[in-house]
Amino acid sequence: MAGYIKVITGGMFSGKSQELTRLIERALIAELSVEIFYPRVAERVSVRDIRTRLDKKRHAVTFHEIETTQFASIGSWDSADVIAVDEAQFFSPQIVEAVKRWRHHGKTVYIAGLDMDYQENPFGSMGALMCLADDVVKLHAVCTQCKQHPAMISYRLTQDAEQIVVGESNYTALCLQCYDRVQMAEGGLRYSAVGSALSVD
Ligand SMILES: [Zn+2]
Repeated sequence: MAGYIKVITGGMFSGKSQELTRLIERALIAELSVEIFYPRVAERVSVRDIRTRLDKKRHAVTFHEIETTQFASIGSWDSADVIAVDEAQFFSPQIVEAVKRWRHHGKTVYIAGLDMDYQENPFGSMGALMCLADDVVKLHAVCTQCKQHPAMISYRLTQDAEQIVVGESNYTALCLQCYDRVQMAEGGLRYSAVGSALSVD
């Protein structure tokens, strides 16, 4: 039995977790068993969203919070029909082999993750996972500045330079034109106390 891999990707605020939830709900209606993996680094809004949305059917779903390097040793997925991974960009490259193995074992695999980090670099193993996938869906938020164009950039509102800074309030979604404009403007976007109502200095 051949498995199947679908990758749902795009920037922050683009609805990846909602789409992942929709696919999981669909699988549950079909009475399939579902295991959901997410990285320990990101017990965050998306995971809580998925838990809340699946509340009534939670008994049929198993959540696994795991370390980002832990994929090689996972065994409990053997009984699942459907395996969902959220925030896949945070996992170490071992995830690629795990996903291949799952497909060979006939699993349906749904993977949600950021395509790019805040500096437009491909994030973690998402590029490799997109190559492997049977289907790829790219979602876009709307730009929070021009409120018109599709957002490509998860723009970081803080000065941190590490690749991983978790927390939706630290980011906003920008289109490429607004990103370039903000990059050229001295000081970039101002970070308001409520994490919104931003403007170029
Ligand atoms: Zn824009």
